[in-house]
Amino acid sequence: MTATRTTVGECRQCRSFCDKMVEPRGCVELGCRYLYSFLDRLTGEQYVGCMQEVYAAEVELGAVLEPGGFGGVKMTGEPLPHCQFAVERAYEGEGESYGCVNRRFFDCSDGGSEGLRAFDLRDV
Ligand code: SF4
Repeated sequence: MTATRTTVGECRQCRSFCDKMVEPRGCVELGCRYLYSFLDRLTGEQYVGCMQEVYAAEVELGAVLEPGGFGGVKMTGEPLPHCQFAVERAYEGEGESYGCVNRRFFDCSDGGSEGLRAFDLRDV
């Protein structure tokens, strides 16, 4: 099968369709300096977002901090090495068509000005 599309937060190289999801709660817990917040004067709700545009959504802080968390939002921009994300699969299946052919997709970023060079001990 040929790749149909691969952008920063998604891999479409096999039939599983994996997306990277950032959990804004992790940004709050890290005290990330790129997390911004603002108050919606109409509703009184406070929202948070990412100045680096690692994710494009602005999410309600109260929901983010609720027990169990808000959940993940789709990664739409280049992550920094400290950004916490999980990979979610849209489809799961058995067999070669569903086998991961892009294992680096699961790794944190090691590029950019804040990049870390991690040792990769795998043979392939
Ligand atoms: S840079 Fe990463 S950790 Fe910081 S707010 Fe953006 S997504 Fe969260």
